[in-house]
Amino acid sequence: MQGDCRRGGFGSDLLGNPEWEAQNPPCLSPGDRCWGVGVLGSEGRSTLGEMIVFLGGPDFVSQLRSVLQVGDARLKQVARPVTVWNQALQTLIDDLIFTAEKTNGVGIAAPQVGVPQRLVIVASRPNLRYPQAPTMEPTALINPCLLAHSEAVVAGWEGCLSVPNHRGNVVRYREIEVEYLDRHGDWQRRVWVDFVARIFQHEYDHLEGYLFVDRADPADVITEAEYSVSNAQLTVPRAS
Ligand SMILES: [Zn+2]
Repeated sequence: MQGDCRRGGFGSDLLGNPEWEAQNPPCLSPGDRCWGVGVLGSEGRSTLGEMIVFLGGPDFVSQLRSVLQVGDARLKQVARPVTVWNQALQTLIDDLIFTAEKTNGVGIAAPQVGVPQRLVIVASRPNLRYPQAPTMEPTALINPCLLAHSEAVVAGWEGCLSVPNHRGNVVRYREIEVEYLDRHGDWQRRVWVDFVARIFQHEYDHLEGYLFVDRADPADVITEAEYSVSNAQLTVPRAS
């Protein structure tokens, strides 16, 4: 399957549009810091107006966001394209990366924290929930688009921060090519396979209002405890 994100894809009418670019200059250049500064342990308000506690030091203000849980109608919404590159977006990206890391996630989508915008984080690394995960730099994908995918699909077990204590066996494309805007507003392309490709497809589903439990056969949704006990028997990939 082939597509073109810049013609008809999300964000296609944004960059390159002089009027839009004049109204929405990127707020960050590599190395810049435009987020706030606070004293460790002190409280303040984020650019979204939420109460925050400065956690990591005088120049580190990422906060743990609360993750919506299955049953919340906001998880069923289709997210809107990001159209403004500002400090709030940069703070949201940092908070999502921080939240995924602290909750043993390998990805997270903005709608999961109640922000209905087309922004996902893909951040594979070994952790307690995914000990076999490959390591990569946490990556923010804004207005992402699936450019191409393999015909080959593979089933694998997924969890979700919004569906705690459950795993589901979900069929995903084995290899994908994606295009997205990075946090500085630059177009990027990546080819991902296997687990990282799975993470992207899972997170992209959040932008469309789907959870893994919407994709999996109900008989293939099990508890985390069942998954742990049966992991060795259940991890045999199966194509369909
Ligand atoms: Zn999820």
